[in-house]
Amino acid sequence: MEAQQSSLTRYDHFRKVDAVCDLFQMAIATGASSPADLDIPMLMGILPEYHASLVPQIYPEVIEAILKPKNRAATLAHMAAAKRYVADLTAALDRGQPVLYNFAVTTPEIFLAMDLVPLCYELMPLYIAAAFVGGVDQDIDLTEDEGLPGHICSAQKAPNGALMSGKMPMPDIMVKTTVPCNSSNMMYQWAQQQFGAKVVVVDSPYYANRRAFGYYVQEWKNMVRSVEQLTGHKLDEERLRHHVQLGNEQLKYYYGLQELRRRIPNPDPGMHRALDVAGLYLCGANQEMVEYSKTCYREARERADAGIAVVGDKKEIRTIWTWGSTPHMLYLPDWLEDRFGMSFLECGLSYMPAEIVGYVDTTSVDSMIEGLALRAFNMPMGRTGMTHADLMIEDFVKVAKAYHADAAVFSGHMACKHSWAVAKMLGDALQERAGIPSFKWETDLLDTRFTPHSSAKAQLGEFFETLM
Ligand code: SF4
Repeated sequence: MEAQQSSLTRYDHFRKVDAVCDLFQMAIATGASSPADLDIPMLMGILPEYHASLVPQIYPEVIEAILKPKNRAATLAHMAAAKRYVADLTAALDRGQPVLYNFAVTTPEIFLAMDLVPLCYELMPLYIAAAFVGGVDQDIDLTEDEGLPGHICSAQKAPNGALMSGKMPMPDIMVKTTVPCNSSNMMYQWAQQQFGAKVVVVDSPYYANRRAFGYYVQEWKNMVRSVEQLTGHKLDEERLRHHVQLGNEQLKYYYGLQELRRRIPNPDPGMHRALDVAGLYLCGANQEMVEYSKTCYREARERADAGIAVVGDKKEIRTIWTWGSTPHMLYLPDWLEDRFGMSFLECGLSYMPAEIVGYVDTTSVDSMIEGLALRAFNMPMGRTGMTHADLMIEDFVKVAKAYHADAAVFSGHMACKHSWAVAKMLGDALQERAGIPSFKWETDLLDTRFTPHSSAKAQLGEFFETLM
């Protein structure tokens, strides 16, 4: 009888992410500090065929960035964590556990505690787009071929296309918070229709006050009950506590880094913010992700104590990114750092206020669900995506002042229509109250064709040149 193919080789996105972890780890392990130092023919000779086939598709700029001494250890640690996550995930798939896709403001602890296969719907495409030239453009096209327009969010178009082409497993259940946008809500409903999965909705209030949060916690409890009923998998308290404790540990270093980035000079490399976002989506998944967070903190701490700047000898342009970074340009913050002295303080996809979110109380199942709900309530996109504009404006004015920012960049994802309206008010507030200029440019999270890399570099380069 023919042996069943393992999930790791069956699903192209898992296989690719796993292989790119190997490739990055291998490149760093050579000790090379630039691509020119790599003995490519020798490496190609020893790589498995599949891995070798991927090498020409990887962004050379990403290789250049990860080999730099300031990025090596964090990249190594993150690759170990991502590889562990894919291994655990595919092992659970091979055991036949139900597949649950969750939206990016919800972290996986509860679903891991139910022994499901939890996968952030938007995550795998982020990794693929970050590493490979034109990473998920074809998946986006597949979705658009179904008649969906170009101006809806690629964060859902890409995984939809990956499902249609068998690159990711079909969902049994999808969990969707109704924050942040109508676009994502409708796309999950479309996925429900297309793939036959049941979407469990976590109704998310418009307001951000105590009463609204009380309602939200009830919605989380309803969601847990619904997922238990639909899968027959019960939430295991001890398993939940284990993952929540891992998440708390991970966040301890995450919050520590936020403190360190307030220092002048900023000791924390900007390329790590995109990795932090992925780390946040996998909060509590494994010990290796804690190690990633700890590695970033330890290295930044050492630099801070020695007064070493990530921008080297350049004049530092301390910058807040008021929407997000651009995942398919993972190398961009590193390029701006070394070329213009831009240091990356916070961004709208990774900023989560430590003083509000804190840690999850592990006393009981209820306290853990409440703590996780509080985190989701304040996660990037969850906190500011669908409420009064004041919240986002006040957050970033506060960050700009506390971190001593010199400039702001709004990398507006074209599908986030709501955030474009805030961008104007936010830019004005930052100028008036924090005294810093804001540069706004249009990009797409995952579609490389919307604003080509050369155009992005030219626009941002022109802005930062005026500040040098
Ligand atoms: S808030 Fe923006 S990035 Fe997030 S799902 Fe909606 S359109 Fe996409």
